[in-house]
Amino acid sequence: MSSNAARVAGRHFLQIPGPTPVPDRILRAMDMPTIDHRGPEFQKLGKRVLEGMKSVFKTANPVIIYPASGTGAWEAALANVLSPGDKVLMFETGHFATLWKNMAIKLGLHPEFIASDWRIGADADAIEARLREDKNHEFKAVCVVHNETSTGCISRIAEVRKAIDNAGHPALLLVDTISSLASIDYRHDEWGVDVTVSGSQKGLMLPPGLSFNALSPKALAAAKKSTMPKLFWSWEEMIPHNEKGYFPYTPGTNLLYGLAEAIDMLHEEGLDNVFARHDRHAEATRRAVRAWGLEVLCRDPKYYSSSLTAVLMPEGHDADAFREKTLDHFDMSLGTGLTKLSGRVFRIGHLGDTNDLTILGALSGVEMGLALAGVPHKKGGAQAAMDYLAECASNPLRAAA
Ligand SMILES: *Cc1c(COP(=O)(O)O)cnc(C)c1O
Repeated sequence: MSSNAARVAGRHFLQIPGPTPVPDRILRAMDMPTIDHRGPEFQKLGKRVLEGMKSVFKTANPVIIYPASGTGAWEAALANVLSPGDKVLMFETGHFATLWKNMAIKLGLHPEFIASDWRIGADADAIEARLREDKNHEFKAVCVVHNETSTGCISRIAEVRKAIDNAGHPALLLVDTISSLASIDYRHDEWGVDVTVSGSQKGLMLPPGLSFNALSPKALAAAKKSTMPKLFWSWEEMIPHNEKGYFPYTPGTNLLYGLAEAIDMLHEEGLDNVFARHDRHAEATRRAVRAWGLEVLCRDPKYYSSSLTAVLMPEGHDADAFREKTLDHFDMSLGTGLTKLSGRVFRIGHLGDTNDLTILGALSGVEMGLALAGVPHKKGGAQAAMDYLAECASNPLRAAA
């Protein structure tokens, strides 16, 4: 941002799977004086967002809002319902599942990690089999990442719920929806989830800085028995204040103005239409990838993510060298490969405030970047996406299929 740097015209293409571009409407909604968070004006805002988030999680139970990134809400979920020494069953979907598992260890929990190759979502059958073996019900919780942002694979939460029920196991179900909430269909109550974790800077189209726990009555009962030390994260501290529209400590007031606007925007579009739009952009992206002759990392269509697509680089080509080209020449940020996938994949984010032309612009940038970086590929990916989106526009029923 130095004054003698050359100006780059137009909007930066932030095509990473979070943070996502913040719509002007949300920026304007946040451009407000910060008010007294103990006053009556705040109370209205507090009630509005606490109630509004229930409609986004699809729950009738309390939603907690933290002034923290998603990592904080992960910690809150574990710290409120578990106690040091508890066993938890987690599934290795990728980088984020691994970080959550490492956090569990740091908190004094004993996670067991079901391994996978980072190319599928959580395998409900494997979870059921492991829970059936646990005759003494030592696992206190099952933790899964709904949308694994490092791989572009989703976990089918209704199936995981069924797996726990089929095994007749009382474990709580904890789900990370940080990169899926408000982008991919999610139903906290209907799917019997006990704690859903989420964050502000992905599908909710806000800047980073807010995160969430959606609760269940069973989670609230477990919280009463938890001996994990906590104060900032404690639901017990939060809930009595939240019931009156307030918070026990200073909330992220201006982000909450943005959140109120985001909730309105989601309902104006209709959540089902938001999900259909993400499905459509994901399919357009996968068609482009196939036309280029490249491979989608997710290896089974039943786990395809609608919020991002991770693309495997051809052998011998570095994903980050390619990403540098799209940034330098087209002012577009693509997602990097994380840990095990470093250099081997790039990720195209297609979540949040994205329309048909944004995604086509991004895919055109990828196609030009592949050529500039000398990555072997076929032309016509952007065209394949264009054909699909034009077909969807002329036949909405086709788009829903
Ligand atoms: C982004 C992300 C996180 C981490 O959230 P922060 O806001 O960076 O703390 C965790 N899990 C998933 C699935 C994510 O996409």
